[in-house]
Amino acid sequence: MDWADDLAARVSGPQVVNDSKTPSGTVHVGSLRGPVILDVIARALRANGHETTLLYGVDDLDPMDAQALLTPDAIEREMGRPLAHVPDPAGDCHPSYARHFAGIFIDTFSGLGIHPDRYYWMSDIYPTGAMDPYIRIALDRAALVRDIYRRVANVQHPDTWHPIGIICPTCGKVGTTIVTEWDGERVRFECRPDLVDWARGCGTSGWLSPFGGTAKLPWNLEWAAQWSLFGVTIEPCGKDLSTAGGSRDRSDAIAREVFEREPPLNVPYEFLNIGGRKMSTSKGRGAAAHTIAEVIPAEQLRFLFLRPKPNQAIEFDPEGTDAIPRLFDEFDRFAAATAGREVRGELPPGVEGTFRYSLLDAAADVTAEAEAFRIAFDRVAMFLAGRGRANPLARAVAEKGSDLTTVETRILRERLEAARRWLETYAPEDARREVQATLPTTAAGLDDRQRRFLTALADAAEARTPSRGDDWQTLIFDIAKASGVSPLRDAFAAIYLAFYGVPSGPRAGWILADEPYDLVIGRLREAGAASTVGGIA
Ligand SMILES: [Zn+2]
Ligand SMILES: [Zn+2]
Repeated sequence: MDWADDLAARVSGPQVVNDSKTPSGTVHVGSLRGPVILDVIARALRANGHETTLLYGVDDLDPMDAQALLTPDAIEREMGRPLAHVPDPAGDCHPSYARHFAGIFIDTFSGLGIHPDRYYWMSDIYPTGAMDPYIRIALDRAALVRDIYRRVANVQHPDTWHPIGIICPTCGKVGTTIVTEWDGERVRFECRPDLVDWARGCGTSGWLSPFGGTAKLPWNLEWAAQWSLFGVTIEPCGKDLSTAGGSRDRSDAIAREVFEREPPLNVPYEFLNIGGRKMSTSKGRGAAAHTIAEVIPAEQLRFLFLRPKPNQAIEFDPEGTDAIPRLFDEFDRFAAATAGREVRGELPPGVEGTFRYSLLDAAADVTAEAEAFRIAFDRVAMFLAGRGRANPLARAVAEKGSDLTTVETRILRERLEAARRWLETYAPEDARREVQATLPTTAAGLDDRQRRFLTALADAAEARTPSRGDDWQTLIFDIAKASGVSPLRDAFAAIYLAFYGVPSGPRAGWILADEPYDLVIGRLREAGAASTVGGIA
């Protein structure tokens, strides 16, 4: 997390951190990377004593250009209209299409510990007249704007092109209009049937004042105008916008040359790829932000985005995999390292910062959080898959060796809830496996070495009475070696066959620790005594 603290050390004076989003449909989980980075920057700035304002905007006057979520009869009417003027496709729960999708997305923020000081909607801003000065400058300097597009992006606009989009007074579309003249107070516009291929204009033309909400600036100019209007000093943006000659370059040049203001500092960030595919808003695949946020708790979701540096892409494939349990494990490793405990494997630099900024509460006691006992996510999932035979709190107390603190109880509860949702959604089938009520018939396939091992394990368990999963695990290793079972995995397979009826499973020590002691001993002896098929003869 050195990048956020470095940034905070580099700037001076009050800071305004901004991000905005076009709500063109269901927002996918990858889009949370921006808001999480935004929040971390604000936390780092505040920690360094900078007066900081965090803004989040919705660019809801952008034209509707994705027909996937419209009914067939609405496509002709709605395509090209401002997103703020398109009805909520879900019925009447929100005033518009934009409010619906942006609302669902924004609703995930507070649960993730992201609290912008102000949300702004461009459909609210334009009618106030706040954008009028920038509209006037842009139109007065239309030739300069055209020149910037040519120089920076190699985009050739005709000499009559003016940087403003009129919301057609006849059909209400903004994506289909073009402005060709400006007389200092009014513009001449045309709503062209063939201006774009994704929406059809109605053919209306005429002179109109572009002020007070009748028009909007094209995206690159609107972005630069937002920076001037709100005094933005830092604005991270996605790598797709940060390419050479891309949106950010254009808006930076427009800010400097047209609005005569230095653009904000950029923190370009890479995408989150789900299953190797780039998360795309318009294609509607992958996982919605609010859906993933219902399964992965806030701190692990923040951690998912913060563990890599912003310029590193994230590969995440939760569907039917152990990606979510491994995310928890990695979080726990960072917690342990932050608490000064020894951990396995290499750690990236800035572990403590990554852990600190992953916490939900910016004011949390980092030491107490890091030192807290965390039971492994896999383990919690096993409690649930086991149909409630194990008492999670009792097991957690046994594993820790003492009562849980308030923080630890909260973490356990959170994990139980997350594991329950994971088992219902993304978990692979084998995570739902449970210990069989009676000796599985597959145990008949155990060979003599395996049966001797199971019997020896039962004897040793009665002598040593292991309680924690680790105690059981150690005992399994000791007895497997002592009974000469080789390779070692045959010993583990024997346990899985005796309890699950399949030759593989989660950590064997955990299975035995979580089941009632009498059941475990009885099962080990029963399986140990079972004869191989045809073995009696
Ligand atoms: Zn709605
Ligand atoms: Zn029209």
